[in-house]
Amino acid sequence: MPVLPSRAEMLDDVYALASPSMKGRAEETGGAAIAAEFIERRFRSLGLTVERQPFEIPRRRLLADTRLEIGSDPLLPGANFAPLTWSGSALAAGPLVPGLASRICGDSKGLLGAIAVERVPAAPGMFRTLDPTLAERALAYQDLGAAGVLFVADSHDPSAGGEAAWASRLDERTEARLKGEPDGVRGWQRDRAAVGAQSKAPRPSRPLRIPAALVSYDAGRRFDESARPAARLRVAVEDEPLAGTNVIGMLPGAFPGKAAVILCAHYDSHGLQPPSPGYPAGRLYPGACDNASGIAVLLAVADALAHDPRPLLRPVIFAAFGGEELGLHGSRAFAAAIPGLRGGALCAFNVDMAARHEEDQISLAGSAFASDVAAIARGSLEAAGFKVSTVKGGFNLDAAFRHGSDHWPLHQAGVPSVLVTCSRFPECDTPADTPDLCSPAKIHRVAQGVLAAVWAATRRQEPFAQPVDAVVKYPGEK
Ligand SMILES: [Zn+2]
Repeated sequence: MPVLPSRAEMLDDVYALASPSMKGRAEETGGAAIAAEFIERRFRSLGLTVERQPFEIPRRRLLADTRLEIGSDPLLPGANFAPLTWSGSALAAGPLVPGLASRICGDSKGLLGAIAVERVPAAPGMFRTLDPTLAERALAYQDLGAAGVLFVADSHDPSAGGEAAWASRLDERTEARLKGEPDGVRGWQRDRAAVGAQSKAPRPSRPLRIPAALVSYDAGRRFDESARPAARLRVAVEDEPLAGTNVIGMLPGAFPGKAAVILCAHYDSHGLQPPSPGYPAGRLYPGACDNASGIAVLLAVADALAHDPRPLLRPVIFAAFGGEELGLHGSRAFAAAIPGLRGGALCAFNVDMAARHEEDQISLAGSAFASDVAAIARGSLEAAGFKVSTVKGGFNLDAAFRHGSDHWPLHQAGVPSVLVTCSRFPECDTPADTPDLCSPAKIHRVAQGVLAAVWAATRRQEPFAQPVDAVVKYPGEK
């Protein structure tokens, strides 16, 4: 087996990527470009061929006149309501009417000209932020003639639904502020002036013209739907796309034209919080585990293979993706370019978060979608000393395979793909995802497992089976 760099060297990469000079590795702060240069330099120093792949990230900025008034009660954007990323830019004024899911309004005509209110039921398990149905439900309200739609989400349960995580984070931030913490460790992950493109959840299949927003459960409790109070919801946004880039490193195979093995990880994080007392420059999202650790694994495997004297039997592509947190934009651009890839893509291993939770535990998603690639990953991770789980807390990780990270666009492009992850942890997507909480032993062990999997895949003769479009349900999903 090729030899990996030391734990200390891998940890250095995590610290470098998580440092304030990387500005939270966001396209918005310019930090993503600094991180991309860092990765490109590392690839070149290992002798890899490097290509940049630019892409555009659609983004919308929320304008100041975005507001929600219920009766005479104004709700502030970011404080207790949040427009959905794919909301129409429009004004809705009308009575609040319980939506179809509430079953109070059996007569859908009652929705004509009204603002529909739907409570998003809390569901067990994680990853409801990827709820695929919210966007389609909003379209259904539009089709029924509603002027707008409000989804009320349980702010105390981050798994409550859709992009309710926004609202819930904000409520926690408010709670934290009340406790004297200037910004809350769990601050809202976005500049409250920005909206759009932040979600990995599916967007509506058709444009939504009506305004759509989330209301926190706490705010939702303040109004009585059965009284049908008058409300005004105005969502005003303008398009403001961002530029992103992928950094693609390549090691050639001994036989030209063979399909390549892809190892990928996203390098972007959430940037900086808006300035606040105590944090005049904004508070940093270091994104240490998510996903500096994955990039450290990618660089270590590249290092090991680049220094190994034996020829690679297949080319290996090391894809460092940007724009993941904003909606898998880097991997989408890469997947779109796969048909032009000489020899094609044999399979892909995506590493997203590799440093937290028990040292000997690792999660693997994709078994139902690419079982033979998953079998190679599982065997390699087990040989590295991991107990490999595909179910966590009663939740089949394959349910989150859809849209969960960069493997998804590759899967959709027909590349058999799996996700290797330590799985979510409490500080994920917050300023508290710091390098001191990362286990260098675990990162190194993930690299060992992933290196073995990549190595095995390069030595595989026959192609893997075509990926399957499995349907794995969220808990509680019908
Ligand atoms: Zn991630």
